[in-house]
Amino acid sequence: MIASGADVIIVGAGSSGCVVAERLSRDPRRSVLVLEAGGGPPDRQSLRLSHLPIGAGSGRAVHYPSAQGFDLPRGRGVGGSSAVNGGYFVRWHQRDFDGWSTEHWSASDIAATYDRLDGGEAGGGIMNASAFADDELEPTAVAFEKHWNDEGFGRSPTPWPAEGVVRVRSNRDGWYRRSAADILQPILIQRPNLQVMTGSEAVGVRTRGGRAVGVAVGERVLTADEVILCAGTLGTAELLARSDLLDLDQSRIWEHRERLVRFAPAAVRHEPARALLQTVLQTADGIELRCYNDDFASFIDGLTPSSQAFGVALMHPERSGSLLWDPISRLRVDLGEISPSDADKLGAWAARMVAMLQGPRFEQLVEPGTVAVESVVRTSQHAWGTMPMGAATDWLGAARAVPGLRIVDASILPSAGSSGPHATVMMVASRIADRIA
Ligand SMILES: Cc1cc2nc3c(=O)[nH]c(=O)nc-3n(C[C@H](O)[C@H](O)[C@H](O)COP(=O)(O)OP(=O)(O)OC[C@H]3O[C@@H](n4cnc5c(N)ncnc54)[C@H](O)[C@@H]3O)c2cc1C
Repeated sequence: MIASGADVIIVGAGSSGCVVAERLSRDPRRSVLVLEAGGGPPDRQSLRLSHLPIGAGSGRAVHYPSAQGFDLPRGRGVGGSSAVNGGYFVRWHQRDFDGWSTEHWSASDIAATYDRLDGGEAGGGIMNASAFADDELEPTAVAFEKHWNDEGFGRSPTPWPAEGVVRVRSNRDGWYRRSAADILQPILIQRPNLQVMTGSEAVGVRTRGGRAVGVAVGERVLTADEVILCAGTLGTAELLARSDLLDLDQSRIWEHRERLVRFAPAAVRHEPARALLQTVLQTADGIELRCYNDDFASFIDGLTPSSQAFGVALMHPERSGSLLWDPISRLRVDLGEISPSDADKLGAWAARMVAMLQGPRFEQLVEPGTVAVESVVRTSQHAWGTMPMGAATDWLGAARAVPGLRIVDASILPSAGSSGPHATVMMVASRIADRIA
């Protein structure tokens, strides 16, 4: 039993924290203590791909306010956001790693680490990734792929996506998400040097002489030789700000902003969609068109669904947002303005989406006269890049300004990805853990 500290304290047992804890605790001589603010691993029901347990009453999510007026949910509890997310597990494009230090991030190392997680071309791996099969697709997904094929977009290769139609790979066991908790849970009983303390929110990183020496949980300070923050982009920023280790006035945060194109389905749906997203189009100018299988609200308890929505997401935004602090809500996110050229790009692709929904491939699927582009630009819940590698940290996440402190979650992604971040957050965590183990 670890009483007052450990060799390594990991804050957060989400996508990255579970990976790092598993790898570092393979050495029985290293004691590893994981502090998780939320509860234990998710139950099976909450892992259904047809359900995102992020509603207001969910014990598996917290909500950060944004200056844009909508909340930003994040996973809470062992598994973190991997236990509540859309189950889309797609690699970035190879060119998204241009500019990363090749000393630690050679193309072959990146590929080998992804392979371990997603099983490479064949699929599988630690996260049991598999693409949705033809006979699993919703009718709208079939029509979407046919439309973009008609428009000259071929099927993107696997496992590395490129411009074209990308059949989504999902981390799943059938129609259930496989979460990062599945990495941690089975080893807990076998490794006495690994301890996970749930219900333990870290409220500050403690330093001595400028070096991180521990973490405060309530009134208690737990000491460690190294503190590793895996609290997610927002959780880590909040903890750093509370510890006076992040200057919010200089902060930047990146998001994949998204505009929705709504329509009423021609037929009433009798069965709920079994998964949120099965196919997308990724374009050469950095857009991802998402063929959601229903209104987002229909996947979330407590929300009233309206019409179905497809998404147009800006994957390589020109402008970032920033972080704010106020005594009531604590951390608040300002997602910022979209640049004029990005706004034009979103508008142009939304117009192509409208044309698609009014075209022949969707004739039997869309109620005529119902297609409309939403004016509000939303978010994909992908926030990254507040503590980028190569700037705020070295290329293995070690904080430049604070020896003894490392950050290994989505905060350290130093560039934008052409796909969602989940597979890449886990790849980065896995590779860093290998290097520092
Ligand atoms: C609703 C939703 C849907 C998404 N869908 C997709 C998708 O389909 N595909 C995709 O690629 N990406 C998706 N994402 C993004 C992806 O899930 C995240 O980028 C990824 O999980 C981030 O991993 P992380 O380790 O950085 O943080 P997380 O997995 O969020 O883990 C952070 C953990 O730290 C804990 N924590 C926070 N603060 C503290 C503290 N002070 N003390 C102790 N513990 C703390 C939290 O409780 C949490 O368990 C989605 C995200 C959300 C929220």
